[in-house]
Amino acid sequence: MGEMEDLCVTECTRCPALVDSRSRIVNGTGPEDADLLFVGEGPGANEDEEGEPFVGRSGTVLDDGLRDVGLAREDVRITNCVRCRPPENRDPTKEELGNCRGYLEREIDALDPEVIVTLGKVPSEHLLGRSVAVTKEAGDLEEVRIEDTPRRVLLCVHPAATLYDRSQRETFEAALERAAELAGVADSDGGQTRFDDF
Ligand code: URA
Repeated sequence: MGEMEDLCVTECTRCPALVDSRSRIVNGTGPEDADLLFVGEGPGANEDEEGEPFVGRSGTVLDDGLRDVGLAREDVRITNCVRCRPPENRDPTKEELGNCRGYLEREIDALDPEVIVTLGKVPSEHLLGRSVAVTKEAGDLEEVRIEDTPRRVLLCVHPAATLYDRSQRETFEAALERAAELAGVADSDGGQTRFDDF
């Protein structure tokens, strides 16, 4: 079995409510050796339909933000705290987060990313193990032990937050800029390289 398949959960029935609400398990996407790992909350309707994280409106915001710092979706890894869509897009429960934790830890372990970026309150609190005021703390970097390994976690607002509150757009963009810099994947000229290519 290849390593990629190891990161793919193909069968799981630990969360009865999610087994009922999902149409498929949505695994992480992107290179297995990516320097940047983005962690969202859980699949929504679009992700459940397409089987890939962040493919709806939030995904467009994320793709745009990545492009602005000189990155593409293909350059980074994107995953979620839970891999199955919760009913009516409710937040995953503590128990569901716990049930899915091992899959996320396995993914973090295999990737060994330079930086983990938490997209929103749920993944921030899940990985830091404390309450987080994400709008206030976005852009902060924290070291946290995950499975006994120290990891750098950069807090970020959820991309969807920028759709409802324009002021969060800057917070979001600044966090992505910092993530790219920390991971050493930022363009030296602030993301303009793509234009120079033409
Ligand atoms: N929101 C998330 O937290 N994750 C997704 O995959 C899509 C939207």
